[in-house]
Amino acid sequence: MLALCLVLFTGPTAMAIEPVKISRDDTALDLTATTEIYKRRGEAFQVSTAAGADGIVRRIEVRASSPQHSGDWAVFALANVTDEQIDRLIVAPHFRLVGSGLLWPDLGSTRILGITPSEGFALDRVEEGSEDDVFRITLNPGSVITFVAELAAPDLPQIYLWEPEAYKDTVNAYTLYRGIVLGIAGLLAVFLTILFVVKGTSMLPATAALAWAVLAYVSVDFGFLSKLISVTPGDERIWRAGTEVLLATGLVVFLFTYLNLNRWHTNLSYVTVAWILGLGGLFAVAIYDPPVASGIARISFATTALAGVALITYLGFNRYDRAVMLIPTWALILCWLFGAWITVTGQLANDIVQPALGGGLVLIVLLMGFTVMQHAFAGGAYQQGLFSDMERQAMALAGSGDTVWDWDVTRDRVVTSPDMSPQLGLSPGSLAGPARIWLPRIHADDRDRFRTTLDVLLEHRKGRLNHQFRMRAEDGHYHWMALRARPVLGSNGEVIRCVGTIIDVTEQKNSEDRLLHDAVHDNLTGLPNRQLFLDRLQTMISMAERIPNVRPSVFMIDIDRFKLVNDKLGMSVGDTILLALTRRLKRLLKPQDTLARISGDQFGLVLVSEQDADKVAALAEAISKAISAPIDFAGQDIRLTASIGVVTWVENNAVPEDLVKDAELAMYQAKRFGGNRIEPFRPAFRTVGSDRQRLESDLRRALERRELTLVYQPIVELKDAEIAGFEALLRWEDPKRGTVPPSEFIPVAETSDLILELGMYALKQAADDLAQWQETVGEIPVFMSVNLSSAQLLKSDLCNDVIKAISASRCDPSRFRLELTETLVMHNPQQALMTLSRLSEAGIGLTLDDFGTGHSSLAYLTRFPFRTIKIDRSLVIDQSEKGGILIRSIVDLANKLDMKVVAEGVVSEDDALKLSEMGCDYGQSFLFGPPIGAESVQKLLKERFPISKSS
Ligand code: C2E
Ligand code: CA
Ligand code: CA
Repeated sequence: MLALCLVLFTGPTAMAIEPVKISRDDTALDLTATTEIYKRRGEAFQVSTAAGADGIVRRIEVRASSPQHSGDWAVFALANVTDEQIDRLIVAPHFRLVGSGLLWPDLGSTRILGITPSEGFALDRVEEGSEDDVFRITLNPGSVITFVAELAAPDLPQIYLWEPEAYKDTVNAYTLYRGIVLGIAGLLAVFLTILFVVKGTSMLPATAALAWAVLAYVSVDFGFLSKLISVTPGDERIWRAGTEVLLATGLVVFLFTYLNLNRWHTNLSYVTVAWILGLGGLFAVAIYDPPVASGIARISFATTALAGVALITYLGFNRYDRAVMLIPTWALILCWLFGAWITVTGQLANDIVQPALGGGLVLIVLLMGFTVMQHAFAGGAYQQGLFSDMERQAMALAGSGDTVWDWDVTRDRVVTSPDMSPQLGLSPGSLAGPARIWLPRIHADDRDRFRTTLDVLLEHRKGRLNHQFRMRAEDGHYHWMALRARPVLGSNGEVIRCVGTIIDVTEQKNSEDRLLHDAVHDNLTGLPNRQLFLDRLQTMISMAERIPNVRPSVFMIDIDRFKLVNDKLGMSVGDTILLALTRRLKRLLKPQDTLARISGDQFGLVLVSEQDADKVAALAEAISKAISAPIDFAGQDIRLTASIGVVTWVENNAVPEDLVKDAELAMYQAKRFGGNRIEPFRPAFRTVGSDRQRLESDLRRALERRELTLVYQPIVELKDAEIAGFEALLRWEDPKRGTVPPSEFIPVAETSDLILELGMYALKQAADDLAQWQETVGEIPVFMSVNLSSAQLLKSDLCNDVIKAISASRCDPSRFRLELTETLVMHNPQQALMTLSRLSEAGIGLTLDDFGTGHSSLAYLTRFPFRTIKIDRSLVIDQSEKGGILIRSIVDLANKLDMKVVAEGVVSEDDALKLSEMGCDYGQSFLFGPPIGAESVQKLLKERFPISKSS
């Protein structure tokens, strides 16, 4: 089709060309610079040849292959300066990134349609690769040939002269490189896609999409696509533009998704979506005008990269870790971008830069893949269930911090993982080995149970080990361990392993114990609280019911005016003092006794270490003393006293609450007496309380109305049953209550001032009656015993009143005996001594009443001017040998001290005789006569002393 004609050089159509000299060593010669391009020269192109070997410049005309040809031509000349024939290939690549331009780039096309040499025939096209136009030439030795190439496009970015073998080698070398890069790109794309399917976090598909875009780009760029489908050079431009748009889109999507930009700002999301949609539209553009699409894509890519820099900087400073981790990737992108820029603008022009940039893209995606995976799996994967049940269980175990306990039964080896030995202070591995080496470490009480539990498990081959036991640590302390395990059966059905966990539950156990302790213990003093106190008391009572010599006593100890301490010195000082008192009290007790804190300043005590009344009383004294010892606080002495109520268990009161109530009643009674006092319980206290109020007012009324009367019980000489005197006893006939015994109303009167009036009333009445009897019967040798309450004497200076009342009675003061109990002298010896001395000096007889119920020794009482003692009924009726000895010694001592002795409650004549023989002077009991009214006494006296009046 080519027409060639030789013409002589005639006009200035084109200048003659300088030939390129070719030698055998030139394997690859770049002809681009030496090739002249002629644009729009029409379908018939005329050009001057290079000067031939003969020096002649010829003019040739070349006709285009088709009339529609644009008229673009390229001309170059080659000279074979050797003496051999040289075969070469002329290669013009369809696409070259180098110098393709940033905007509206040259996306490549067929470059050369045909080449016409100045000599010989048109060159043969070699169908070597679809990416280049390749023509074979043969240059004879010494020949100079001008070539005219008919161009398919106005530009010819590159034209090379290759030695055929070298060309083949280069193509092959690139093919290998491309294959590797393509393979990596493909793998990456597939891998990231698979990860996405498995994992499903959004940044994975975004990265996968970018990987696919890179794969597409590289496939096109490396000519791989044309190997799959037939791609004409025209189509290739569309493909190329398309993949560039794809790349640009992929980068935007990745940046947006990876940085989670929708989380920061919704507006940012709109911008991004618009951007992506715009890029989507660019695909359509790519079909009609690939360079425009490609140009926009390149701008988009560069803009995205720069926007990424801004975002990463901003978010990185805000400590957003994803942004920080993207820095290496983005640095690489920026490098790549710079490389691409200097390449497309032609500043960097060599043959490896284009494939290098393709590889660079793959490298970028690779780095992205790593970054993303780091996020997807660092912490992320496990949260979202990417692992098996087995792993989950293993993780749970590791997370719980429990220790795995594994007993390989067949080899009899126990292993704990992590090793438990250090926890117990043992050297590592000392608990690994046969199960029996655990036994010596296990608490003696738990050892057998541990062994049998394991044996049972082996025997039954099923069930679960759920076992708690104590193990001794190296420091001697025991740790509570909870072992939970399960047998694993082998193929023969035997237990081959036992696997589970072992946990140190000491803390837990302790806190359970502590809770239990706190529930029943006071948390200031650590003493048992009321609840536990009652419980212990119950135990003691039930013991007392079975065992003869167990007789618990209950003490209620209340600190007097403790409120003042709290008010003046503050609660914390109050607490400190309570603690100090607690310590003092504890020192006085034996382990079997229970001291408890009942309420604020009230302590309770169950005393079982002592049963003797004397010992119990002595302890009460000791407690009272311990409390009243001064407490040093910040240099000042704080003196406290206590009111103590005591009750001792007797067979019939079985409920602990009742015993405690009785002790409390006694304690309140002690308080009423002004505190600093030990008060044994008396049944009369029971009416104290709401009843007490009414009883007191009724009693007051009865006293005003003189409804109280006196009865007189004879006191007789034991040797001849002659009447020696009378004891005046109060009687109260209440219309509502009936006969109220003095044991009930006297204690009530004692709690108020009523006792003063009551006492004086009894004294005056007795004196009046005695005077009356003397008047009617005559001067008779009988005495009148009148009871005086200790409270009465302690409450006022009664001495004067008593002396006055007696002297006013017209009877001799020596006729009067005042009966007092030892509580008076025990509690206030000083005042008692003074008062009693004065009464004694006034000639009034003093009698110690109820001797034997108290706790003081007779020797002690000799300091006081008592002339008579009355041995209490409880002692007199005691038929035991010990009782007998006791009475005998009392009587002996009394006789030596020149005291008269009255035995109360003598039951029989025999006893009366015995007592008389012992040296006991008087008796007073129902046996000798019950208490009777004043009239009856008068009658009795008349019968007994008929002559008195007359004499
Ligand atoms: P007390 O001073 O020990 O009086 C003796 C008590 O023993 C009297 O009880 C009397 O009835 C009782 N008694 C006498 N012989 C026998 C006997 O053979 N068997 C038994 N089981 N009991 C016998 P009473 O009258 O109920 O007086 C009880 C207590 O009340 C007295 O004990 C005394 O402490 C007090 N009391 C009575 N009158 C007065 C009073 O005027 N002033 C004061 N302060 N106390 C009084
Ligand atoms: Ca009496
Ligand atoms: Ca008595």
